[in-house]
Amino acid sequence: MDNPSHGSRSFTNGATGSFNTTANPCNPSLHRAFIALGSNVGERVEMIEKACSEMERANIRVKRTSSLFETAPMYVLDQDPFMNGVCEVETSLGPLELLDALQAIEIGLGRKKLIDKGPRSIDLDILLYDDQTVSHERLNIPHQLMLERDFVLRPLCQLIPHEIPPFAGHNTTYLSHLKSLPPPEPKPVATTYISKHFPPLHSTDPKRPTHIMAILNLTPDSFSDGGKHSPTDLSTLTNTVRSFIASGATILDIGGESTRPGSTPVGEAEELARVIPAIKHIRTSIPEAANIAISIDTYRARVAEEACAAGADIINDVSAGTLDPNMLTTMARTGKAVMLMHMRGTPSTMTQLTDYPHGIIHDVGAELLSRLSAAEAAGIRRWRIILDPGLGFAKNQPHDLAILRNLHTLRSDIQGLQYFPWLMGPSRKRFIGNLTGVKNASDRTWGTAATVSASIAGGADIVRVHDVKEMWQVAKVADAIYRVDEEDA
Ligand code: AMP
Repeated sequence: MDNPSHGSRSFTNGATGSFNTTANPCNPSLHRAFIALGSNVGERVEMIEKACSEMERANIRVKRTSSLFETAPMYVLDQDPFMNGVCEVETSLGPLELLDALQAIEIGLGRKKLIDKGPRSIDLDILLYDDQTVSHERLNIPHQLMLERDFVLRPLCQLIPHEIPPFAGHNTTYLSHLKSLPPPEPKPVATTYISKHFPPLHSTDPKRPTHIMAILNLTPDSFSDGGKHSPTDLSTLTNTVRSFIASGATILDIGGESTRPGSTPVGEAEELARVIPAIKHIRTSIPEAANIAISIDTYRARVAEEACAAGADIINDVSAGTLDPNMLTTMARTGKAVMLMHMRGTPSTMTQLTDYPHGIIHDVGAELLSRLSAAEAAGIRRWRIILDPGLGFAKNQPHDLAILRNLHTLRSDIQGLQYFPWLMGPSRKRFIGNLTGVKNASDRTWGTAATVSASIAGGADIVRVHDVKEMWQVAKVADAIYRVDEEDA
């Protein structure tokens, strides 16, 4: 049989079908394809992640992924909700070879086909292959049902919103086509995955509860609680962690180096010595923390890697991978959830880097988009990413206030930033001190309360705070006010 990957324009394939091919002009042996990812049995996100890894092993390079959406089943309605997404891949395989490889992955991951369009642990469908049409008894490209499926089009629109589907006579973009479909009921829910022991973040659920991320600085010099928690005093650490959890924290953010403006960096060895024993201790000796996510607050790849090996679930990098060239690849390799924060320069230069010529929201959005591209290119999956606009980092007071006032815009109105969960870290920051005249950072609780409420009003999914007990109460009330069905709002 002729191999369609080496075909030139169009040819028939004996009795079985015909191909219409267009080789990639830059590198004729490399092809761009889009694969729909679906699962509705077992650990759905883990299954999709395994499928992506298996694709890489089969020389199908995953270049970008969409978000994952939890969607109600179509066609066969009596089955569990699906997790759906799309990825863009690059491969030298021809269309049928690609189908063979994907089907081998499905089988290798334990897929058993019981009924057509019924439950499946993993489903990998080829949506597009360059701009080719393939009509074959085993394979139709473009995928025949893709234009009627919100669960395909919505994620595809995150990757190629302005391209036009290669169906004869079709002349509107994917995005306009998606907008022309009746809104799905129930709505698809964007899902960001942290770990098996932690509820997924549903950034499009209007009723989602805000998570409280408790700050645990194991540093002598953090701007507000420096010196309070000694890395070697594990019994004080136990008490602090227990009290954070009892007060409503669901995430513990552990840091071993201060990033306050003008702070002096500590060495990697010192940072490791501060955080690793603490993470191990929490994971092995504090049973109440079993369902609490631990995030490691670091910009160093090695610290992130060792922290994950010790039991951290999230890598929280204030530099979004700009301060350590190995950070993004390390994040991708660990497969953990990541927090990418907007900042510029380093903690010692950032206060000088506050020029936002197109406006703070536009420029922070554009710079986060470029960090997202770098993260995706390094292999970080989009459903593992949480964004943070970086209050106080390369921002002056009006910038911080504008972000608090306009988080909604950043969250929902910038093409390419939709569907992510957002972390806000206003706690005790300098602008609160300036506005209230409260010099001592640990006395800025009331001012912080206003910023936590504003963050939740703007759609923050997680707030990072020092005063856990107090801010849990603020979040509880703010959630009751703002986290309601859109129709009731
Ligand atoms: P599914 O149950 O959705 O995985 O469907 C798999 C069947 O659809 C297989 O028999 C394939 O040969 C066939 N098929 C036709 N077109 C495609 C496509 N574009 N991607 C994947 N499978 C396809």
